[in-house]
Formats: sequence, C-alpha cells, structure tokens
Amino acid sequence: MGHIDDPAEKFAFFRSALSEWGAAVDRPLPWKGVRDPYVIWLSEILLQQTRAAQGLPYFLRFRERFPTVASLAAAPDDEVMKLWEGLGYYARAKNLLKTARIVAGEMSGQFPDTYEGLLALPGVGAYTAAAIASFAYDAPCAVLDGNVFRVLSRYLGIAEPVDTTEGKRIFAEMARSALDTARPAAYNQSIMDFGAVCCTPQTPQCARCPLQSRCVAFRQGSVRSLPVKSKSIVKRERYFHYLVIEHEGEVLLQKRVGKDIWENLYEFPLIEWPGPGATHKDLMAGELWQKLLGQIPYKLSAVSPPFRQVLTHQHIHAVFWEIRAEKEIPYKADVLLQAERRSLNKFAFPKVIDSYLKNGQLHLNLL
Ligand code: SF4
Repeated sequence: MGHIDDPAEKFAFFRSALSEWGAAVDRPLPWKGVRDPYVIWLSEILLQQTRAAQGLPYFLRFRERFPTVASLAAAPDDEVMKLWEGLGYYARAKNLLKTARIVAGEMSGQFPDTYEGLLALPGVGAYTAAAIASFAYDAPCAVLDGNVFRVLSRYLGIAEPVDTTEGKRIFAEMARSALDTARPAAYNQSIMDFGAVCCTPQTPQCARCPLQSRCVAFRQGSVRSLPVKSKSIVKRERYFHYLVIEHEGEVLLQKRVGKDIWENLYEFPLIEWPGPGATHKDLMAGELWQKLLGQIPYKLSAVSPPFRQVLTHQHIHAVFWEIRAEKEIPYKADVLLQAERRSLNKFAFPKVIDSYLKNGQLHLNLL
C-alpha cells in the first residue's frame, strides 16, 4: 500500500491517467487546440460562469463578427452589449471591451505572452491568465476552476473549503504539483474536460473512472461531500417596478449607469421598492411617478405579474406597469430617451425585461 500515498507517485499516476483519458475523450469544442490568444481569451471570457452549451452560440457569433482584437476594439459599446445580451454578468462585457482596446491600442494588437502580463488585463483573473498562457504559449501554468477544485479535492481527499484564503492556497499548490509541465496545454484541457464529463458534481462516473484505484474520496466514500464550501451565498431580494409609459407608439427608456447590476443596459423608468407588494398608490406617491406622470392625464392599462431573474447574489422581482399617457411626457433628455415600441429589439435589455417583452401580452392582467 505504501506507494499509493506517496505524493510524487500519486501525481505521476494522475497525470498519466488523465493524459490517456484526454487523448481518448471526444468533447469537440470550437476553441480546442486553438493557439491564437485572442480567440482563447474570447472563449474564456464568454464562457466564464456559463455552461459550454449556453456560451457556445455567443462565442461563435462574437468570433464571426469580430475576427480580430482590432475589430472588437473598434466596435461601438452598444453593439457589443447587444451581442452579449442574455449571458448575464455584464461587468464582464465591459472588461471585454476595455481589454480589447488596451491590447489593440497600447500593445499593437499583441496579447501579453506571460501569465503576469495577462493577469494585468481587465477582467482576466488567475484562471483565464493560466488558460491563455498555457494554451497559446505552452507556459507551465495550472488552471484552477470549479472543475479542477472538484477533481483535486476528490482525488486527493482534501476537505479544506475551496472558498477560503487558506483553501485557495492549498488547492493552488496542489494544482501546481499535479500539472504536467512538459505538456501544460493538453493537461489543462484534460483536467477541465475530465471534471465536465467524468468527475461531475452530481453524477460522477466513478465506476468507469481511470483514477478510481487511487481516488481518496472513492476509497473513503466521501465523493458526495467533496468539494467543501464554507458558506453558501445569501441572496438579496430586490423588487423592481418598471413604468412602461407609452405615448403615440413610443416608450421611455433609460440606460443604467453606475456600479449596480446591468451597467450600460437599457430599461424602463424604474422604481425600486424595499419589499414585496407595492401598490399603485405606493408608487404614485413616489418622486419618479410624480415627475413623469404628475402633470399629465394617463391611463394605467395593465400590470404584469412579477417576472423573476436570478443573479449570483440577488433575486430580482420585476413588475411592469403599462401606462398610456395622453399627452407628451415631460422628461429630461439627459437621463431618459424615447424609443419606438416596435423597435425595442434594437436595445440590449436585462433578461427580465426581455422575458417581459416576449411574454408580456400573455401575462398582463388587464385592470
Ligand atoms: S473515482 Fe469518482 S470521485 Fe474519484 S476522481 Fe473518479 S469520478 Fe471523481
């Protein structure tokens, strides 16, 4: 039994079993085997916190529309936000543009070729920098994402939480020890594929797993309890009331600015209420309603049931108040704009508004 727990031997077995598994696995993804740092970066940014199946069409659209970093850097912000629509995590879209502009402008179109250089780019974290450095330049950098945490914690039997500073340090060290420095790109690809296909969160394929004979979690029967997380995220509930004010086929919109969610996306004028169940009377008493509708005749024609959107740290509950204004609405052009209701599909909206626009007619309760 002695050799089984010898760390060097354990990692050597891990590398060779993964390498064999990786060579045989058929998980064709369009960015596999690509060496162009721009394409690798684009795929990594688009696929962060997204399942490959969901991110794939976005990647294909972006790559077709923006074949080079220069073409992306030159794109208007609104066009990029529109193409990004539905992916969520809009801070990533902003960083995508920032980085494209830095690389195209200050770096003559060349991505940095070191881990540290890549890490300095906006929106590029340790994982993405390691992925680009290894895939594009064969640098000996180990990727560490959810898949890798899971595979390592199970194979090595590490019960340290993956989301603490200490846990991250331990896993980073293990990931470095496990890395196949002779072929970092193939190794990184294999371990990520392995986590996605074989050592999956809910239904790991232990019976067919090439690591099974040396897998600590399998031996100890702790597969289900690893990896450990120290805390689950507490989500904040937010209640949004959107005023869909229509006058002669046009509605009012605003662009979200500031550091809150959905920066640079469009929305209807918004009243955020501190809890559920705001009534017409509650909203009418508010400043925004008074500003827009206080001086003109209007008719409240429908109110939607709540539409929900789940974000990482927040639940959004959005109710849409459909209002027909009988006169032109007094609004400030620096904050609001008027758009034809028919051409709303030109704007990039958060998902919850898209759902409303697609399903609104079906769900509206006529008053
Ligand atoms: S034996 Fe099961 S838990 Fe262990 S590495 Fe393989 S799939 Fe993962």
